[in-house]
Amino acid sequence: MRAALGMTDRDYYLRDDARTVEIRTAYKDFVTKLFSLVGYPDDAAHAAMEAVMEIETRLAAASMTRVELRNREATYNKMSMDELRSLAPAFDWEVYTNAIGVQIDELNVSQPVFAGEVSELMEEFPLEHWRTYLKWNLLRSNASYLSSEFDQASFDFYGKVLRGTQAQRERWKRAISTLNSALGEAVGEEYVALYFPAEAKARMEKLVDYLRVAFSQRIDKLEWMSDETKEKAQEKLQTINVKIGYPDTWRDYSMMEIKNQPYVLNSFEANRFGFERNMEKIGQPVDRNEWFMSPQTVNAYYSPTLNEIVFPAGILQPPFFFMHGDDAVNFGAIGMVIGHEMTHGFDDQGRKFAADGNMVDWWTAEDAEGFEARAAVLRNQYDNYVFLDTVNLIGKLTIGENIADLGGLTISYQALQNKLEKDGHPGLIDGFTPEQRYFIAYAQVWRNHIREQELRRQISEGPHPPGEARVNGIVYNLQAFYDAFGLDAAGGRFIAPEDRAKIW
Ligand SMILES: [Zn+2]
Repeated sequence: MRAALGMTDRDYYLRDDARTVEIRTAYKDFVTKLFSLVGYPDDAAHAAMEAVMEIETRLAAASMTRVELRNREATYNKMSMDELRSLAPAFDWEVYTNAIGVQIDELNVSQPVFAGEVSELMEEFPLEHWRTYLKWNLLRSNASYLSSEFDQASFDFYGKVLRGTQAQRERWKRAISTLNSALGEAVGEEYVALYFPAEAKARMEKLVDYLRVAFSQRIDKLEWMSDETKEKAQEKLQTINVKIGYPDTWRDYSMMEIKNQPYVLNSFEANRFGFERNMEKIGQPVDRNEWFMSPQTVNAYYSPTLNEIVFPAGILQPPFFFMHGDDAVNFGAIGMVIGHEMTHGFDDQGRKFAADGNMVDWWTAEDAEGFEARAAVLRNQYDNYVFLDTVNLIGKLTIGENIADLGGLTISYQALQNKLEKDGHPGLIDGFTPEQRYFIAYAQVWRNHIREQELRRQISEGPHPPGEARVNGIVYNLQAFYDAFGLDAAGGRFIAPEDRAKIW
């Protein structure tokens, strides 16, 4: 229920360390400022801020932590409308569903404690409190579509305070971001025509095949997994659906009416369209052709319920993908990403889903134990990974991504070896062996500059650890890394062979 909170994590309401207090103080100023901007006198703006803080703090306390939210069993609570009504009786569900024009028989209440608390608070707080809270939500979520003062106030908090960003991006870039989220596939169609040739898709398909074969070989060789579980794992691996570049059919936006009117009204219209589109899915079969990222997005994902991996055209560019680049570099960068997404189907949460996307336990108890023991090694390593002298990473929050990084880098290395065996060793390029180029390409993908505030935010909000930890936290677990650069036990982040994490 993070959407219910203006600060981006429940802990910002509840912790009392210096950094959190600094954030909370700035947030109170931000709330007060927006109410002032819509004409509240000082006293009233301050009172409105207090009402917002009172409600949001209670909602924060009833929200799951980010670590709890990762747990698929904890957030899967299928209920009938009757059950929901008795869980949260003060909220008039009848009026609500009628107002949004949908008929719901059963639903998943991902956070039952939160729903119960909302109901309690509705009895406890006066109606005026709720009006203020809802006004705040409207103001906050639209501030960047209003005049400059609103936009600036929003940036001052979400950009400067939370992330340490010094200056806003240029207006045209922000406008394109809005367009990307409102009309993603319409922009994507243009993007693909300009930047994503058919041969890029063909090369990517071949890379995916190499990764699937390498993963399969590694499953076969696992010493800790029984044949019975291996068979299920192979079935799941072989049935992973792959989407590359862009969707087969483009989304139809003809029912969205964008016209010459204030920016914020067009934003409302885009929200209305998106909301209705989602509501229309209720009771319908799952659309397996749908994409949850637009083609121009520089990212990729695995969906456990669809058992599919998806690579938008936007990530099929340098430094991830080099259309005419050498294999070692492509396997170290996009190959690793492919392996990473595949591994998500077998990470601490993904492994709870079967090949058909249903949440089913297909592991023998012993194999599940073996997996957990191996994951614990990696989790402990990340618990002990420190930034800024005193800020430890949170192993439980990042474990899914860390398993995927470790698996991805291991599997793609195997895929590269298979390719070299088939096509022959190309030798040195720019003075580096293929193995060296492989690891260098991996590191280059994650190089970045980051400010201290953003680093702290990323660490506490996860689930991805900072780029540096994605590289240095993983490579020292791989013998191939030591071999590639002739490293010995002295220096660096050397890990003794018996202490290394190894899952896939
Ligand atoms: Zn991931």
